Amino acid sequence: MSCLFCKIVEGKIPSTAVYQDEFLYAFADVNPQAPVHVLIVPREHIASLSDANEKNRELLGHLLLAAAKIARDKDLAKGYRIVVNTGEDGGQSVEHLHLHLLGGRQLSWPPG
Ligand code: 5GP
Ligand code: ZN
Repeated sequence: MSCLFCKIVEGKIPSTAVYQDEFLYAFADVNPQAPVHVLIVPREHIASLSDANEKNRELLGHLLLAAAKIARDKDLAKGYRIVVNTGEDGGQSVEHLHLHLLGGRQLSWPPG
């Protein structure tokens, strides 16, 4: 498996862990776009949100709830943004489903 995030999940490529459990691994983005920029990835390889299916229903909810927990732990009471870039037009560059948790500054809308 040549997937970058699978290698990070397996510890074959170093990363800065933020949170982890049986189903997911969360780590600091190497190129942060905000004071807090955490990537939340399922341990299971799912290429993108478009590749998720009904079997992944609980996992998808778990990823979102973990994002909210990490946001609380990071004191993002003023707010934050969860982003799931999907596919070419969505700007997805790593083909392993991941949530971006961005916070710690006022974020603009719409995104580019
Ligand atoms: P995407 O563009 O697919 O939505 O997001 C991929 C994210 O992965 C980018 O924000 C990028 O900075 C991050 N990233 C890419 N390679 C690495 C890496 O080797 N380590 C870490 N921690 N983040 C990475
Ligand atoms: Zn993967």
